[in-house]
Amino acid sequence: MKSVLWVGVVLAVLTGCSSSPVCDARTCAVGCCSLEGLCLAGASVTSCGRGGQRCESCAADRLCSAGVCEPFGSAGAGAGGGSSGGSAGGLAVGGGSVGGGSSGGAAGGLPVGGGAAPDAGVRCSRVPVGRPSTDPWARERTTVDQPDDEPGAAQVHVLYLEPADRTATRQLDVEGDLRRSIAAFTLWLAAQTGGPRIRFDTCDGAVDITFVKLSVNELELASGLNSARPGVAFIRERLRDLVLSRFSEPNKLYLLFYEGLAYGYCGGASYPPQLSDHYTAIYRGGIFAATFVTAATGAGQTAVPVDSTASLPAAPFDASLGSQQVRVIAKTATSVTVSAPLGGSVTPHTTLRAMTTIPECRANALSPDGQALGYAEFATLHELLHPLGIVGSGATDFAQSPVAPGHLAFTNPAGGDDLMYQGTQPWTCSTAAPNAAASRCRLDPSRRNYWGVGNRTNVVDLARSAFLSPTPAQPQLPPGW
Ligand SMILES: [Zn+2]
Repeated sequence: MKSVLWVGVVLAVLTGCSSSPVCDARTCAVGCCSLEGLCLAGASVTSCGRGGQRCESCAADRLCSAGVCEPFGSAGAGAGGGSSGGSAGGLAVGGGSVGGGSSGGAAGGLPVGGGAAPDAGVRCSRVPVGRPSTDPWARERTTVDQPDDEPGAAQVHVLYLEPADRTATRQLDVEGDLRRSIAAFTLWLAAQTGGPRIRFDTCDGAVDITFVKLSVNELELASGLNSARPGVAFIRERLRDLVLSRFSEPNKLYLLFYEGLAYGYCGGASYPPQLSDHYTAIYRGGIFAATFVTAATGAGQTAVPVDSTASLPAAPFDASLGSQQVRVIAKTATSVTVSAPLGGSVTPHTTLRAMTTIPECRANALSPDGQALGYAEFATLHELLHPLGIVGSGATDFAQSPVAPGHLAFTNPAGGDDLMYQGTQPWTCSTAAPNAAASRCRLDPSRRNYWGVGNRTNVVDLARSAFLSPTPAQPQLPPGW
């Protein structure tokens, strides 16, 4: 089942959420307000500030530290670096570039963005203490969008999200897993395009990943029960709504790596022009053959009200209901009957999950070395291309309904080998490969759907996207931006 791309492109009419909130001390307490009234992180030398004040651009001899432009060597630049000892201390002061360049390149990593700024002092999160100072992947955790290597350029910023009540067993931002994964699919993309790749927001050459601890619990976020935007399909929108006030720079597409539960999806994206926004999501905790309880059910009951049972197998089947093991002997559209009275009560949002062989999304390993790649890498890249408008409805091999819009049909020359394929055939891209050259996954090899297609109506050409690095001539923003 892993061969099927479990992704959701949710098409919906945005109602009541498209107006921007006023930017002020109340709505932007953690950042600063741009001239356009956007709430920015306020941690960049080009937009520094906090408490909802107007963002300022720091003078050339200053850095943005905790929202304040400060001279080199003051509290912000000195904190931690000097005291953390010789091995890691090499990053703390001086020359600017912190090993992302040559070491990253040698390891097959991302190239340094536009060149590290000639600032002295610390601008970017450091390699954790105890690692080689040239580790291209590991970085200490940061909770802000750090200074951009290429300010103003169209770029992807990574957010690593954790629900309020879950602590991930492995910190994918700190340990470098997400950077390795991004590097692996970037190498593949560059091999397919002959060089160009998607521009990521980097800070001194390392992909800038912002950790965000969300204020909502995992089960509530997954179900959306009683939320303003209910339903399992709208989890991407609920995540977006939670980060919108802090992360909405107009030149950025935000890639949300969510360490929480999602029902029925490993990822979700917007797809313009029908639905256009700047957020695409990967759900690390996505599961299948599962639903959730919609109303409190007491011990001793056998009928349990649940959300849609469409994804559940035919009864009878064994399942987990929260921490209880049950056997479901019958189901309707919105309830299940279990074979024995419940041993304990269950609360709304509780997960009912059938025993199944379909792995959770988290079981798809991330690249261990920045070169090997498989489902996790290609699913992420696939979800990154959707909000750019890919695949446009005018593409030669555009898949018709019931396939979700934005995909290629199996009739295209690459068939299930194509990155943007979705359908009932096996998806070649989900097959693990030791490196880009060994992968059979393809990027529109016929050049008639979304790469190198030229100027055609309702077709988006990734080769002309402003998100590419190097930037193509006459770069184009996604539809609706
Ligand atoms: Zn898709």
